[in-house]
Amino acid sequence: MRRYSAFAIAREALRYHSGWGKAWRSPEPKKSYDVVIVGAGGHGLATAYYLGKNFGITNVAILEKGWLGGGNTGRNTTIIRSNYLQDPSAAIYEKARSLYETMSQDLNMNVMFSPRGVMMLAQTQHEIRGFQRTAQANAFQGVKTEFISPQRVKELVPIMNISGPRYPVLGALWQERAGTARHDAVAWAYARACSGMGMDIIQKCEVTAVNQSNGQVTGVETTRGPIGCKKLGILVAGNSGDLARMAGFRLPMESVALQALVSEPIKPCLDVVVMANTVHGYISQSDKGEFVIGGGTDMFNNYTQRGSFHHIEETVRALVETFPMISRMKMMRQWGGIVDVTGDRSPIISTTPLGNCFINGGWGTGGFKSIPGSGWAMAEMMANGQPGPLCAEFGLDRFAEGRFIDESVAAGVAH
Ligand SMILES: Cc1cc2nc3c(=O)[nH]c(=O)nc-3n(C[C@H](O)[C@H](O)[C@H](O)COP(=O)(O)OP(=O)(O)OC[C@H]3O[C@@H](n4cnc5c(N)ncnc54)[C@H](O)[C@@H]3O)c2cc1C
Repeated sequence: MRRYSAFAIAREALRYHSGWGKAWRSPEPKKSYDVVIVGAGGHGLATAYYLGKNFGITNVAILEKGWLGGGNTGRNTTIIRSNYLQDPSAAIYEKARSLYETMSQDLNMNVMFSPRGVMMLAQTQHEIRGFQRTAQANAFQGVKTEFISPQRVKELVPIMNISGPRYPVLGALWQERAGTARHDAVAWAYARACSGMGMDIIQKCEVTAVNQSNGQVTGVETTRGPIGCKKLGILVAGNSGDLARMAGFRLPMESVALQALVSEPIKPCLDVVVMANTVHGYISQSDKGEFVIGGGTDMFNNYTQRGSFHHIEETVRALVETFPMISRMKMMRQWGGIVDVTGDRSPIISTTPLGNCFINGGWGTGGFKSIPGSGWAMAEMMANGQPGPLCAEFGLDRFAEGRFIDESVAAGVAH
């Protein structure tokens, strides 16, 4: 794999960019691999990458039913933060956030990580208490956050109306080193690095069944024929329940659509990410100048990767009070993705009842930010056959044992 560098850009500029190779290979599937990963989203690709980088396991195939990064990884609003309440959550999200800081250098591709700061507005007394508690927990966890005043909010975001009639801004939980990254680039960078290590990324290859013998996984059936494996990793976000069914177990999870929209591009006027959980909307400005706006999930289960009109209206209406200028903007595009949600709003990173079959899902509305940390932990579990310290608490058994990692209140809007 050729390295990207300033020198390479200069050289290609002189020869009409004719020398760039493909970023990753598109090989035919082999009969079998040491490891098969289902799902070429961020989590699947990051798992494969850290299997190779940290454990030297490179006889790996990543199977994708569509195109890589075409699931939620390419549909999210790219918010990265680690200000969670519970210790296991803060640990894995902070690991991920810190890996984002050096991702462009590690993967030799610009993922445009922008630690511009994320603020979560407190617009009720309940939220003030909740965020002050989270800031306190974060201090113990080594995650740098602070609770800031409405005046500081206004300084950071001059276009905000902090004295709205229904929900005035009463403060905010502020994480200065949180921010955004270019979501496609994250998938592409991991894919390129995996391909460079000799791994096979096989697109348009849907897994339709999981093969097993004597309680151990032996491979998968796919639309491109059977593929054998010694270990299987399932990382398919909104389709987790479906793959678990194929492997013979059930998950405490539901799949729902979450949607987002973007406005027409305007001049730079918002250089932090703002999340307003009470009115249920969150917003940042992209490098192109568009406002990237996220809303809530549908209230019913479904597998359609589409948005619904009432949500657009609700989301924009919610934000107009805090950002009056939005009322004069045109909205250009909206889309949806299927997220898998657990009861305690925390992910499942776990061994399964099927031997050598591992699952990672349930990131719900907030799994973009966790991609590197999740991949790191999943690779460690798949290589060693048992969970390491980063994901030990996220096992499936917590639902039977009542050991919930309850982020449902703290991260009701967990983007
Ligand atoms: C609108 C929206 C906004 C969001 N905003 C944020 C945000 O701001 N911050 C944040 O942290 N998170 C956010 N999220 C959540 C985040 O996008 C997801 O948690 C994360 O991308 C999940 O990554 P993944 O790799 O697990 O899944 P995906 O990227 O969905 O990848 C899974 C892949 O598995 C493939 N697959 C499924 N079934 C099969 C099969 N049978 N065979 C082969 N392949 C299969 C799919 O095609 C897909 O490509 C948002 C999500 C949405 C939809």
